[in-house]
Amino acid sequence: ELDKLKDFTSLYHGFESFFTRNMYRRVRDCFNRPICSVPGATLTLVERRTDDYGWTFTATGEKKECINLGSYNYLGFAENHGPCADATIEAIKTFGVTGSSSRADLGTTTLHRRLETSVARFVGKEDAVVFGMGFATNSTNMPVLVDKGCLLLSDELNHASLVLGARLTGATIKVFRHNDMEHLEGLLRSSIIEGQPRTGRAWKKILIVVEGVYSMEGSLVNLPDVIRLKKKYGAYVYLDEAHSIGALGPTGRGVVEHFGCDVNDVDIMMGTFTKSFGAAGGYIAADKAIIDSLRAHSHSQRYATAMAPPVAQQILSALAIISGEDGTTRGQERIRALARNSAYFRQAAQKMGFIVYGNDASPIVPVLIYHPAKNAALSRMMKDRGVAIVVVGYPATPIVESRARFCISAAHTREQLDHCLQALDECAGLLGLKYSLVHP
Ligand code: PMP
Repeated sequence: ELDKLKDFTSLYHGFESFFTRNMYRRVRDCFNRPICSVPGATLTLVERRTDDYGWTFTATGEKKECINLGSYNYLGFAENHGPCADATIEAIKTFGVTGSSSRADLGTTTLHRRLETSVARFVGKEDAVVFGMGFATNSTNMPVLVDKGCLLLSDELNHASLVLGARLTGATIKVFRHNDMEHLEGLLRSSIIEGQPRTGRAWKKILIVVEGVYSMEGSLVNLPDVIRLKKKYGAYVYLDEAHSIGALGPTGRGVVEHFGCDVNDVDIMMGTFTKSFGAAGGYIAADKAIIDSLRAHSHSQRYATAMAPPVAQQILSALAIISGEDGTTRGQERIRALARNSAYFRQAAQKMGFIVYGNDASPIVPVLIYHPAKNAALSRMMKDRGVAIVVVGYPATPIVESRARFCISAAHTREQLDHCLQALDECAGLLGLKYSLVHP
């Protein structure tokens, strides 16, 4: 074992041998924690005891109710009561919990069709198509849009589903530094001059792939410049709004609205229903011809079971509230509450002296802890103080940039946020994190 440790680097990358056995087990109690409640503003964790070596867990039989700062419940729709629940329960009674068939066969219900019309109307595109899983929405549809002979330009921090989708396309992939428009332009310019590898022929298509809000950084895409470059170089834009649809922009229409851009300048609008809608699945909204092609060729349409009908109903109800089509201002109030809560939490963490990444408008607030061991300790200590948090580190972030990633919700009350901030301040003191804080 000692011999193996000498070759730290290769063993570290040999995830199974070094990381799993020697490092991951020391922090693994912070992950895969079972919960036994709705992931709302609060949640209930099942307490576990680990053996001395950190290999096995046994439930202690105790439960711990915590304020939930880890779920993507941005607008507070992940509730089992409240404005969406009754209609969703009715949908279970009418349609059951599974489509039992692919969309192309017998899995398309009237709910799916209504949902697609509503999504297209909400984001301002001609048509939309929905899928049972957000991850698969990216990974199985990108190969329908581009293929060999195309150039795909991808932000280095794009989500794993976009990376997988890009690899499945067969296109030439070039990665640009996160939000670095000079680098993107340099790649566009040189690639266009050189053409396709070996043949030098012109690219069939150039697709720039970006996200609205980057979930590890809380940063926003520089959309106005992406659009400027797309126009200058004749490219197309694929925008993943998983963390921005519903959450950003005065009416929740995402980063396009936030920046005041024209939705016609974004060719492919992708998003998920797992965050602001408190549901599951994903969508692509675009021109009708593109959506028709996805319906005909997407693996997720033909070879995967359709989105569960009650899930479609949950999204329809949430969407009606967000867009105000329910005739109330409840949606607007939730959007405003999210913006208020996010700004409050971010500014308070900054005032404590923490380095906080990301944009002020982001509902994700990444607070830098740096030290991987302190990251895990922070997670445990916050849990003891009744706050469930998500901590992230290598390989999701650079090894020296471990961080706590707080997800803010419209459902959090000011008292709940104050409790969390007080707990964070206390833990920072106990962990010696204050030494690394920047002093004003
Ligand atoms: N895109 C982005 C940017 C994401 O962050 C995620 C997951 N959080 C996905 C796609 C995949 O979506 P889902 O979890 O709904 O499958």
